[in-house]
Amino acid sequence: FQKLKQGLSRSSSALTDGISSIFTKRKLDAAMLEELEDILIQADLGVDTAMAITERLSQGRFDKEISPEEVRAVLSEEVEKVLAPVAMPLDLNRGKSPHVVLMVGVNGTGKTTTIGKLSQKLASEGKTVMLAAGDTFRAAAVEQLKIWGQRTGAKVISGDTGADAAGLAYDAMKAAKDSNVDVLLIDTAGRLQNKTELMDELEKVIRVIKKHDPDAPHDVILTLDATTGQNALNQVEIFGRVAGVTGLVMTKLDGTARGGILVAIASKNQLPVHFIGVGEGVDDLEAFSAKDFASAIAG
Ligand code: GDP
Repeated sequence: FQKLKQGLSRSSSALTDGISSIFTKRKLDAAMLEELEDILIQADLGVDTAMAITERLSQGRFDKEISPEEVRAVLSEEVEKVLAPVAMPLDLNRGKSPHVVLMVGVNGTGKTTTIGKLSQKLASEGKTVMLAAGDTFRAAAVEQLKIWGQRTGAKVISGDTGADAAGLAYDAMKAAKDSNVDVLLIDTAGRLQNKTELMDELEKVIRVIKKHDPDAPHDVILTLDATTGQNALNQVEIFGRVAGVTGLVMTKLDGTARGGILVAIASKNQLPVHFIGVGEGVDDLEAFSAKDFASAIAG
């Protein structure tokens, strides 16, 4: 929690400084609520949540003095209310092995790093893990995944640079079945520049996975970079349509001023949030807790 609190300190100070500057021993009026709403929207929390918070404050509190602490308490409660339904652990124990997780997301959002961290987490729980270097386009991505494999004791299935991603996914599914691993984590490319190509590739990857197991991929996890703010909402929309995203990981929540975007995403999409990334290290992946996030962002 300390890491999250520290990571969100920039997001939270924008909010708490704003709140302290508005709610100064004055009686609550409409102008103050208007100002608060602006601050909440600027903090990327989304219009719906911003309005819910001001709405709640307006109820029975007009013409009464209200302290910044009271406002922050309402902020924390409302944020938790939005996040609680989406805070869902990743359940890898439903059905037969291998449990197949397809990781999708725009390049640079932290897909490969998240796979590495997850691989470590699963290994420490006694699960056998295999990684598939499905971002065949970028040699660096393949190399990076191999390093994570070595570090976490997971076997890595990879091909030559430029190899067919669907072919690789097919081989990885076979290898995972043959060697009876518990979990297969498949990396993918995230070139948003050419959406049609990306769509075709992801569709093909999913189709060949289903040849081995019609129920797979069991999870399609989208990584979102918290520092990109509102862009993350578009990415949820695009990858949701193309790949049928089933859950989210929000990365880079260490040191961003835009962490509020997670609240906007939760309120708009109701997609489960499994983990958050709070650093580049192997242990910097935390199970998502609505309560911790809410109290960290409310300061
Ligand atoms: P990919 O292109 O989506 O596979 O992204 P990478 O996994 O290569 O990550 C891109 C960069 O973001 C790398 O430098 C990672 O170390 C960094 N990164 C990933 N997750 C986090 C995180 O939670 N916090 C921070 N600070 N950096 C991260």
